[in-house]
Amino acid sequence: MNNKSVFPAILFASTAVFIIILNVWLRSPQDNYSVLSLSIILLFSRNNMNYGAQLMFFAAAVLFTGVLLFPLKQITPLIALIAVIQYASVYLLTMPFLSHIAGIEERKAGLGENKRLLEAGKQDSLDGAMLKDDLLEKQIKDIRSLYDAAKELGSSLNHDETMELTTAVLKKIIRNNFKISPDDITFMIIFKKEYEYYIAQSFGYDEESIRDNEKTFVNAILKSVGKSQEYIYIQDTSKIPGDAGLTMELNKCVIYIPFYVKNKLLGVLFISGSKINMFDEKQIESIRMLSNQIAISLEKVHLYEEVEKLSETDSLTGLYVHRYFQDKLENEIKRTQRYGGTLSLVLGDIDHFKVINDTYGHLAGDYILKTIAVILKNHTSIMDSVARYGGEEFVIILPDTDKEKAHAKAVKIRKEIEKYPFKYKEIQIKITMSMGVAAYPLDADARRTLIDKADKALYRAKEEGRNRVIRAE
Ligand code: GH3
Ligand code: MG
Ligand code: MG
Repeated sequence: MNNKSVFPAILFASTAVFIIILNVWLRSPQDNYSVLSLSIILLFSRNNMNYGAQLMFFAAAVLFTGVLLFPLKQITPLIALIAVIQYASVYLLTMPFLSHIAGIEERKAGLGENKRLLEAGKQDSLDGAMLKDDLLEKQIKDIRSLYDAAKELGSSLNHDETMELTTAVLKKIIRNNFKISPDDITFMIIFKKEYEYYIAQSFGYDEESIRDNEKTFVNAILKSVGKSQEYIYIQDTSKIPGDAGLTMELNKCVIYIPFYVKNKLLGVLFISGSKINMFDEKQIESIRMLSNQIAISLEKVHLYEEVEKLSETDSLTGLYVHRYFQDKLENEIKRTQRYGGTLSLVLGDIDHFKVINDTYGHLAGDYILKTIAVILKNHTSIMDSVARYGGEEFVIILPDTDKEKAHAKAVKIRKEIEKYPFKYKEIQIKITMSMGVAAYPLDADARRTLIDKADKALYRAKEEGRNRVIRAE
């Protein structure tokens, strides 16, 4: 008997007891129709009962009527018969109503379930939307950092600087966007300069092994890339025997991304991971997008260098470029040969310039280079030629100047640089320069050897403590 039948059962029992008491008290069983009220209780109570309980109640009602009729003799057979007929009619006549009510209940339950499903669906779609939002936000973040990286890459026209930026950007993307620890990854960028490919940047390899095996690595990578213009992803290198000869611990999976600009293979980005199949499609797509950007910025640097080669002056300092200096020196030597006299060469290199760049930034470094160019120009005559020999190396051709005079001039310049108040963004920077002096025909009889002598003297100036001028021996 379930909970729903408890109340009718109590009602039924108390009515039965009431009927017996009433019958005994009235002592006139013939007039007693109260037993018929049982059918009314049955009518109301069966509503909430299951079939088993209903049957039990009707059976109890019939049994009770029987008990009143025979052992107690409190009702007449007629009343007993009417009562039983009444029970039966209550049972039969209310059947359609009950099934109708059951239908309603069922529909109500169905509606409730629908409502619950709807609510759940609403929550699901809300969750879904939020998840979508998160995903979108992440994608936007990824795209933005790629965009920022690309912008950063495009900001330099200097080859070395672009390479350094590329490494920094790749590391950042791998750590922030891919959530891969830099410990789980190594990469190399090989790049073509003039006619040769070389390892322009590497990450995660020790420098010595790169130096000793550069050719092997480069050849292996180029061989693996072959003629493919698309990236190559090898998810499990153990399935490819002797892959590229790059037998490094971390090479469980590797990606080769060639940089092509106008059908020319400019370089390759080679990435290897410490786990099998470590990169998903999205990550590779991001790297591919980034490498397009790398290729474009490298091409820009490449073109810039080409243009620079064609021009006489260097865009940063306004001094003559290296190639022009070589031509000029050749001509000046020829002239000295013809007319006699001495020509001197001063080669200067800023001391610890890398530290300046690292401490104050490349822009501060550029400012120093520009200012030094001005100092050099101010301390030389119109007959002299000042050129930017390399990154932070300068050279001065002093025609009709003997070695001692050249040395004196170099010392004056050195002192001037030493005391010059370099100031970048309100920060005072101390700069010194080491220099080497060589003369033609005293120290050498040709352009190449003259440069060599000046270079060796410069090297000694560095060795002996920097911020000094040394004459060639
Ligand atoms: P040392 O006293 O031995 O010459 O030390 P150093 O740090 O000057 O040595 P090194 O020649 O290795 O460093 C040269 C640095 O000059 C490295 C490079 O980043 C920087 N450099 C080269 N060209 C440029 C340029 O155009 N702009 C800036 N800002 N830095 C440059
Ligand atoms: Mg240098
Ligand atoms: Mg230097």
